[in-house]
Amino acid sequence: TGNPTTSPWDDLPVRDELRGKSPYGAPQLDVPVRLNTNENPYPLPEPLVARIAERVTEAARHLNRYPDRDAVELRTELAKYLTRTAGHEVGTANVWAANGSNEVLQQLLQTFGGPGRTAMGFEPSYSMHALISRGTGTGWTAGPRTADFTIDVDAAVRAIGEQRPDVVFICSPNNPTGTAVDAGTVLRLYDAAQAAKPSIVVVDEAYGEFSHHPSLLPLIEGRPHLVVSRTMSKAFGAAGLRLGYLAAHPAVVDAVQLVRLPYHLSSVTQATALAALEHTDTLLAYVEQLKAERDRIVTELRAMGCEVTESDANFVQFGRFEDSHAAWRAILDHGVLVRDNGVPGWLRVTAGTPAENDAFLDAVRAIRKETN
Ligand code: PMP
Repeated sequence: TGNPTTSPWDDLPVRDELRGKSPYGAPQLDVPVRLNTNENPYPLPEPLVARIAERVTEAARHLNRYPDRDAVELRTELAKYLTRTAGHEVGTANVWAANGSNEVLQQLLQTFGGPGRTAMGFEPSYSMHALISRGTGTGWTAGPRTADFTIDVDAAVRAIGEQRPDVVFICSPNNPTGTAVDAGTVLRLYDAAQAAKPSIVVVDEAYGEFSHHPSLLPLIEGRPHLVVSRTMSKAFGAAGLRLGYLAAHPAVVDAVQLVRLPYHLSSVTQATALAALEHTDTLLAYVEQLKAERDRIVTELRAMGCEVTESDANFVQFGRFEDSHAAWRAILDHGVLVRDNGVPGWLRVTAGTPAENDAFLDAVRAIRKETN
């Protein structure tokens, strides 16, 4: 789809900046073990499924009406969850929710980016930061990382000073590398970004619950331009729900109202998310299991002689392969789908159930034998 000579939309008057580009596209292949999109491998527990059915039934009785446009009950419960788990007290006015954190990020770029403005991220990172920038007409600049995939703070501060971006993305833990960013780095980048021009700094904590380190959320205190973005797709095991949220100064929440579509969050979505939040403790117990599995994958891959990037997420970046795409294919031939994010030499595997992880580890062991 990325080839400009064969795009099916060649004859359509699509915007110049979209011409010849490829859409986001993790392969959805029918393979026994799918560890490629950082999903939670555990289906929602049955009592929660029943509770969702109850709450959705109630919501269905009112589907003739538009949903609560401001999602107040949901934002209040999300605020309670953050207050309880992220080390900082936030209220309803600090929290905003949308259909997945991708929509949250899109709303932020529609509000604070846009034509004539630029966003910056530190690559390799979550590819949608650049793609949503493009989709909202925001220019994109890639800042540097070191060889171990941490952010090179001095180089990043220099890049911010030179490029003067309007929006800065800091992904922690970073996708696809798993690297957490420390609070000191966020503060230096925030200060650099404010010195260059008053810009918005977005900390994407989609994988925050899986980190060995505490959330960066407390940093929003006294920093009106800092936004922390979260999702229920990973820790809550609810990727199909499409519920993301942000925490920030109330003025940021007010500002995104300018671009959100009216009634963007359906009553069914709000009801389902509220049911899931009632079962937070059960879901966070799964997170603990996944963290242990993630650490086991790291240990076992290293024992096989693989290089592994330190991970604070529910996935692990491993390598190094002379031809990472060939390695991706070889692992697939053993029935396990991992992700080739296009980082030369490296692949990424999502922590699954213990049995899925065993299948993955066996596959890597086998391909290392085949190629040695
Ligand atoms: N941020 C990061 C870093 C991600 O990896 C993802 C999903 N892969 C998202 C945001 C978006 O997730 P969602 O829209 O499901 O909340």
